[in-house]
Amino acid sequence: MHVEDNYRRPLLSLRISLTTRCNVNCFYCHRDGMVPSSREISAIDVKNICRVAADLGVKKIRLSGGEPLIRRDIVEIVKGINDVGFRDISITTNGTLLEEYSYLLKEAGLDRVNVSFDTLKLETYRFITKKDYLERVKAGIKSAVDAGLHPVKINMVVLKDLNHHEIWDMFEFCRENGAVLQLIELLKTDNCPDMGIECYHFDMAPLEEKLSRIADKVMTRKFMQDRKKYYIEDGEIEVVRPMDNTKFCANCTRLRVTPDGKLKPCLLRNDNLVDTTEALRTNDTEMLRQLFLEAIRRRAPYYDNESC
Ligand code: SAM
Repeated sequence: MHVEDNYRRPLLSLRISLTTRCNVNCFYCHRDGMVPSSREISAIDVKNICRVAADLGVKKIRLSGGEPLIRRDIVEIVKGINDVGFRDISITTNGTLLEEYSYLLKEAGLDRVNVSFDTLKLETYRFITKKDYLERVKAGIKSAVDAGLHPVKINMVVLKDLNHHEIWDMFEFCRENGAVLQLIELLKTDNCPDMGIECYHFDMAPLEEKLSRIADKVMTRKFMQDRKKYYIEDGEIEVVRPMDNTKFCANCTRLRVTPDGKLKPCLLRNDNLVDTTEALRTNDTEMLRQLFLEAIRRRAPYYDNESC
């Protein structure tokens, strides 16, 4: 069973933000569109949410944040989702705690991982994150591959004059370590209004042209906002371009959950959230299901054909 919204988009994936806390401080971070909150839903809440989502046809669960590995119950959370029956569970992490958790998470049922990692240079890493964790992240990536998480994707936000000249070095690093490189176009949202983001915006169009020319094969991922995947020799590069991609919203099949248990129909909006606190508190599955259906009804493309 799949439930479609009013724009005939099926709901297939759930992105659960487990916390707004983070142990790095990337200057460009949009915080996944989340408003800071001190309340964090429990591992049992996450499991109950996932049970209802499974009933409504959701196939994929992604855990994010803030930094999801900061949660001390992260292994229990993944195990709970796995027990519901999900076979596509992933985490987006900054990788700083991954070395400690890769094997435990794999054993708990985690399938794959995206590691946000923008640079191989210590100075640039420090500039972006205000921290010194470069080597820890590299070790985390290696341990994730060793633990059998697959694929391990490296999320590299491409920043003009800061790391754009590192794209090919990063591709090499990914190839050597059995990871896939995912190049992300910098997105400006209300969460990061004053950082002079425009000066770091890197136009991905010429790069994509080049990738098309040199790739052995190009694939378009229909339910992933028509993202292009380029196969080059024995490596892979994916390009994520939400700002210029008119199909970004048309192909969206995702609902988000905030750390304090609100269903969030759109990354770019916070004025149409659906609060599940009461349903979770009273363990009322039918109420939770109705709230999910309401959130699905509220799903609407942020960029439609006219505004794009
Ligand atoms: N702490 C986790 C991490 O670092 O992966 C999860 C949260 S982070 C907000 C999720 C992803 O959003 C990361 O891959 C990050 O690079 C990306 N991201 C954050 N701000 C962005 C922006 N302004 N434009 C594009 N991507 C951004």
